[in-house]
Amino acid sequence: TKNAKGNYTVTMIEGDGIGVEISEAVKDIYKAAKVPIEWEAADVRPLLINGKTTIPEPAVKSINKNLVALKGPLATPVGKGHQSLNLTLRRTFNLFANVRPCKSIVGYKTPYDNVDTVLIRENTEGEYSGIEHVIVPGVVQSIKLITRPASEKVIRYAFQHAISTGRNHVLVVHKASIMKLSDGLFVEVAKELASEYPNVKLSFENLDNTSLKLVQNPSQYNNLVMVMPNLYGDIMSDLSSGLIGGLGLTPSGNMGDKVSIFEAVHGSAPDIAGKGLANPTALLLSSCMMLRHMELNDHASKIEEAVYKTIASGPENRTKDLKGSSSTSHYTEQVIKNL
Ligand code: ATP
Ligand code: MG
Repeated sequence: TKNAKGNYTVTMIEGDGIGVEISEAVKDIYKAAKVPIEWEAADVRPLLINGKTTIPEPAVKSINKNLVALKGPLATPVGKGHQSLNLTLRRTFNLFANVRPCKSIVGYKTPYDNVDTVLIRENTEGEYSGIEHVIVPGVVQSIKLITRPASEKVIRYAFQHAISTGRNHVLVVHKASIMKLSDGLFVEVAKELASEYPNVKLSFENLDNTSLKLVQNPSQYNNLVMVMPNLYGDIMSDLSSGLIGGLGLTPSGNMGDKVSIFEAVHGSAPDIAGKGLANPTALLLSSCMMLRHMELNDHASKIEEAVYKTIASGPENRTKDLKGSSSTSHYTEQVIKNL
C-alpha cells in the first residue's frame, strides 16, 4: 500500500560483502528514476536463540508489514550452531518458490544467443533440510527431505507461472530413476496436479539430460518453465547464469503466500568486496522483477532498458566480470545517464 506521500515502502536488506555497494547503486538509480519507493532498512544480523538462528524482530516486522523486500547477499555466519541465514529467511516467511529467469543480454556477447529460460527452484527442503549426522567416525549420513505439501506448493506455482507468462508448458527436472522415493514423489505430485491445469503441457526430464541439452542449445528451453527440487535448482541456475555472462547478471524472486523477497542469485563475493568492482546488475534486475510484482511495470522497463543500453555501450562502461574496466560507481552513473 502507498503511504501518505504516495510512495510504497519496501524493506531493504543491504547484506554482506558486496551487498553494501550494489544496494547503494540500486538506491541511487531509483532516486534518479523517480521510482515511487521509500526504502526501510532492515538489519538481519542473526541472533542465536535457544540454539536456533533467528532474524531480529524489527526486520521480521518490517517485512511482514511491507510484504515486499529487496535483499543483498548474506554470508552464512561462521561459528557453531548457525544455520544459513538465507535459509532462515526463506523458512521465516515460507518463501516456497524461487523464480530465476535467465535472459541473454543483447549487448553482451557470449557463445549463446537468445537464451530466455525460467527456472523455479523448490526453496524450503530437499538437501537443504540440514539433517546430517555422523553414524560412526568416517561414515556420515545426510537426509534429503521431500514432502508432498512443499512439492505441491512449488509445482502449483510453476503451473500458475507458466499460465501467467504465456509459456503454458512445465518441465519437471528430476532424478527419479535413482532417487526413487524422493524425486519419485516430486514427479508423482506433478502428475496429480496436471488435471487441474488442462491447458498447460507437462513433461519430465532427467537432470543429467537437462544439463547436457542446456549447454548444447539452451534456447530449446525458452518456451517453458522448469521446476525442480532445491539442490538441482541451485546448481542449474548457476549453470544458466554462466550461459549469459555470469552471476553478476541473474536476478531472482523468493515467492511466499504473503511475502516476496527479491535478490540476486550470487553470494556476497568476499573476494571483491569493498573494492568498487561489484556488478550491481543482478540486484538491479531483481529489483525490476520486484517492480513488476508491484505492478510498476513502466518503471521496471525504464530501468531494464537503461541497464541493457549501458552494458551494450562498451567495455569502459562494464564491470570486470563482464570483461570491462568500469567501477561500480561509474557503471551506476552511466545507467542513470541512460534512464
Ligand atoms: P557466498 O558464500 O556468499 O555464496 P561465494 O564465495 O559462493 O559467496 P559468490 O558470491 O557466489 O561467492 O561468487 C562467486 C564468484 O563470482 C566470485 O569470484 C565473485 O567475485 C563473483 N561474483 C559474484 N557476484 C558478483 C557480482 N555481482 N559482481 C562481480 N562479481 C561477482
Ligand atoms: Mg555462492
